[in-house]
Amino acid sequence: MNSPEALDPALHVLRHTFGFQAFRGEQPAIVRQVVQGGDALVLMPTGGGKSLCYQIPALLREGCGVVVSPLIALMQDQVQALRQLGVRAAYLNSTLGAAEASAIERALLAGEIDLLYVAPERLLNSRCLGLLESARIALFAIDEAHCVSQWGHDFRPEYIQLSILHERFPQVPRVALTATADTATRAEIIERLALQEARVFISSFDRPNIRYTVVEKDNPRRQLLKFIRTHHEGDAGIVYCLSRRKVEETAAWLRSEGIRALHYHAGLDPATREAHQTQFVRGEGIVMCATIAFGMGIDKPDVRFVAHLDLPKSLEAYYQETGRAGRDGLPSNAWMAYGLQDLVLQRELITQSQAPEEIKRVERQKLEALLGYCEAPACRRVLLLHYFGEESTPCGNCDMCLAPPDTFDATLAAQQALSTIYRSGQRYGAGHLIDILIGRASAKVKERGHDRLSTFAIGKHLPETQWSTLLRQLAAQGMVEINEHGGLQLHDACRPLLRGEANFVARRVRESTSTRAATSVRREIDFASDEARTLWAALRQCRRDLAEEQNVPAYMIFGDATLKQMLDARPMSLEAMFELSGVGERKLDAYGSQFLEVIQKHQRRQAQNA
Ligand code: ADP
Ligand code: ZN
Repeated sequence: MNSPEALDPALHVLRHTFGFQAFRGEQPAIVRQVVQGGDALVLMPTGGGKSLCYQIPALLREGCGVVVSPLIALMQDQVQALRQLGVRAAYLNSTLGAAEASAIERALLAGEIDLLYVAPERLLNSRCLGLLESARIALFAIDEAHCVSQWGHDFRPEYIQLSILHERFPQVPRVALTATADTATRAEIIERLALQEARVFISSFDRPNIRYTVVEKDNPRRQLLKFIRTHHEGDAGIVYCLSRRKVEETAAWLRSEGIRALHYHAGLDPATREAHQTQFVRGEGIVMCATIAFGMGIDKPDVRFVAHLDLPKSLEAYYQETGRAGRDGLPSNAWMAYGLQDLVLQRELITQSQAPEEIKRVERQKLEALLGYCEAPACRRVLLLHYFGEESTPCGNCDMCLAPPDTFDATLAAQQALSTIYRSGQRYGAGHLIDILIGRASAKVKERGHDRLSTFAIGKHLPETQWSTLLRQLAAQGMVEINEHGGLQLHDACRPLLRGEANFVARRVRESTSTRAATSVRREIDFASDEARTLWAALRQCRRDLAEEQNVPAYMIFGDATLKQMLDARPMSLEAMFELSGVGERKLDAYGSQFLEVIQKHQRRQAQNA
């Protein structure tokens, strides 16, 4: 009898080289298309498993797979990871000396390389193109293909010239890959890379292992610290802040609280930036505080959380940033603290930017959508996916699903708020309006005579936090607008409400939203017992030792997902070890016995203690 593997060479490579049991989603169809020599455009979320879509065809087709990748810093990691699997991989970029580069060129011509990573500017020079013409090329993979888009934030001019690959190598299949979902970018990729003939593979953009939580800002640093302490002690994570200064301050503060935090932003000198990035990627359990400069190509699979201390620019940016959590598929958190002040700040940034008016208008709309996300009293994931054109049902893995908010009829309160905005002249921010509503006679309130307004103290029966939630919800539903100075103004949409022709349902604030979120999120890797925790620590130590010996990131030895399987399955033989996902032939040979020994020793000790 033939096994399915014998019939399907792709499955054979998947199991023996990569150590995975089954393909995911669209992977088998994509692999088939490229192996057969067709072009493909692959749209898959971060962590979806794009790399296998060109790595396996490169191994199955004759010749070398050439991978165009915009990030020099990442090439080395990718090549190292492949070598760990026993794949003959190399890269060509400006970090190589002449002798090293020519050694790789010779190996390429001799057919000794399966996968070659090349920087786009390198690839495009005529010498390199000539070299590739003399070699046998299995395929071209164009990673981060959205870099062709002039409208995107990752635009790379060299990417546009990559259409030359089609002209010079018409017989070689090309596969372009990206995690950027929108239709405009997709069309641009097809157009600019001459992929009209390509089959397009669109995967769901859902990231089911990521739990989304949004909390109202109260004392953001404390909230962050509590979130980390409760759920992510010892885990790697990213904390995004808007400004460089805040990045540095947040990192310093976390360190003073005993958390291993680093900072990263575009203002650091390149050497420091790289050192911090390397420490984050290689180390375990480092929290990186960063601006969005820390972005594309953070390939670390075991980032357990992404936290936002400031509002991102749009839902696209938010989804991309949070998508850096949990590439390995294990439970992870996307956590954001926000307040109305963030919105005001983002508004201001848009207004001050040099962009043309029509772009600013789009940016404002995007910000509105983000506010809608933060304030909507319904499943976060449904909303996110809907924004990206995918319909879904409540997920059960976001703060809204796990602890549905209480709502109440707030029609009267909303009318009172709107009326206060109107009577005070439609130019004050939330803080001042709330002072009026709850009857706090601040200096400013007295100075403006607002203590004589008919709505002064009209809302003193509701807590201050309830009023700020209400104002944000009014803004999220388009009833009020926030101008670039943070002043609230009435919008036409509020008329039915003011006239008493519509009701307004508001979320009731709880005592502390941060504790609510905290209790609802479980620990990411659950340990059944102290005994399991001991073995987990021993397995991690073994991995750390091996990684240090070879000077590679720990996850390249085995990812957390594989280690977790060792913990659960307790394999007692190499055959049993080979059954685990993530254990291929090369790694079984290289590391299998060390990990077996750790498990056996642990089991013996358990038996003695019993
Ligand atoms: P992307 O490039 O789409 O962000 P990767 O190719 O880096 O994603 O894959 C994400 C993670 O999923 C990696 O750790 C990878 O090893 C793992 N993975 C990919 N395909 C499979 C599969 N079929 N079975 C198990 N794990 C997989
Ligand atoms: Zn949900």
